[in-house]
Amino acid sequence: MTPPRPADSSASDWSETDVPNDRISVVESARDEAGFIDENHGQRARRNPPRSSRAARRDAEASDGARAGNAEPAGSKWSISGAMSALGRDMAVDLGTANTLVYVRGRGIVLDEPSVVALDQRTGAIVAVGTSAKQMLGRTPDGIVAIRPLKNGVVSDFETTERMLRYFIQKVHGRRTLAKPRLVICVPGGITAVEQRAVKDAGYAAGARRVFVIEEPMAAAIGAGLPVHDAEGSMVVDIGGGTTEVAVISLGGIVTSISARVGGDQLDDAIIHHVKKEYSLLLGERTAEDIKIRLGSAFPTRNEPQAQVRGRDLISGLPRTVVLTAEEIRRALNDPVTAIVDAVRTTLDRTPPELAGDVMDSGIVLTGGGALLKGLDERLRHETGMPVTVAEDPASCVALGTGRCVEDFEALKPVLLAESRY
Ligand code: ADP
Ligand code: MG
Repeated sequence: MTPPRPADSSASDWSETDVPNDRISVVESARDEAGFIDENHGQRARRNPPRSSRAARRDAEASDGARAGNAEPAGSKWSISGAMSALGRDMAVDLGTANTLVYVRGRGIVLDEPSVVALDQRTGAIVAVGTSAKQMLGRTPDGIVAIRPLKNGVVSDFETTERMLRYFIQKVHGRRTLAKPRLVICVPGGITAVEQRAVKDAGYAAGARRVFVIEEPMAAAIGAGLPVHDAEGSMVVDIGGGTTEVAVISLGGIVTSISARVGGDQLDDAIIHHVKKEYSLLLGERTAEDIKIRLGSAFPTRNEPQAQVRGRDLISGLPRTVVLTAEEIRRALNDPVTAIVDAVRTTLDRTPPELAGDVMDSGIVLTGGGALLKGLDERLRHETGMPVTVAEDPASCVALGTGRCVEDFEALKPVLLAESRY
């Protein structure tokens, strides 16, 4: 991959629509009839995975974000003049396959919700977006579908992506939309020109004045605090829901990168597959994600937990409970975890020797929600011989890095994707 060229001033000024025709809805159809039962106690646990700092912040900030639109801070810089107001409203969006985060200039991350939309199939009307829509995944009554429009790491469903993006932006803005914001949107690194254009169109349709695009590994590296402008090479591995992006960055550009279509979703699928094969039990996707978060690992740890899990028996059709161990889940996750390790190895192979030497010194930094998989850092350390660290609050790195671009627009403009690339 060539380093991104500086965006020219005419970048993103077009806004005509050239919507791709391949609108394939990715519909979560599996009925989630499974329930998760807590480790070792046999008690039914909360459906939601253990709350991470991110989850706690998600609620606080999402509601703050909703408030932000309706009541601006008194005497704040946004009320001084129209021009300042426009600047104050510039936004960064991490349009992730699993979660969308919105960062507002001067405020930080104000929204963090699942990239899920629930639609009424008859009318096409939006029933729910974000957190409330995710709760419907696998549980929708007839006539309602819960869709993850970016599930496979691509904008496979442009229309729904656009509506979701518009919903989130308007949720942050509230009704007092005085000025059209500049928008920096982070997209997966392996995105095609058509997909990139679809994302930009979605940004314009959502009311942006200018839309810029930044590649995910670059945003992740900036958000993780890596010295992206230095000559010294840094390696970042961002593990999201549908993709893993591995990149070596130097002098403000991506020198080598790989975007592998493997991420948290494939880990969830591997758990579903394992439980189906070994126990003839059907699990829903959300239960599988719960199991991954509670039991999943990529390297052996001490005091490994086990958990009772409820699913639907494939033969009798009735609910049934089985006990799963961390060890067997690790085995079940081995294929997708190996695919992540392979993406890192291949990128290292393709990295110029000087930069590979730098990575040997500075190490590999893991970002994205998937970086929270237990023992993944240890596994990568073991297999590559490189130092590996997990970034602080990995699931927010991309949003924070994209946010840096709206805070310090001129300085970071060169890292944004130039229009001339497509
Ligand atoms: P994206 O950028 O594609 O939206 P995120 O970076 O938000 O994705 O990461 C979402 C993925 O991270 C999901 O597959 C989710 O299950 C996974 N994830 C979140 N927390 C954990 C955890 N503690 N352990 C393992 N995986 C996790
Ligand atoms: Mg991401």
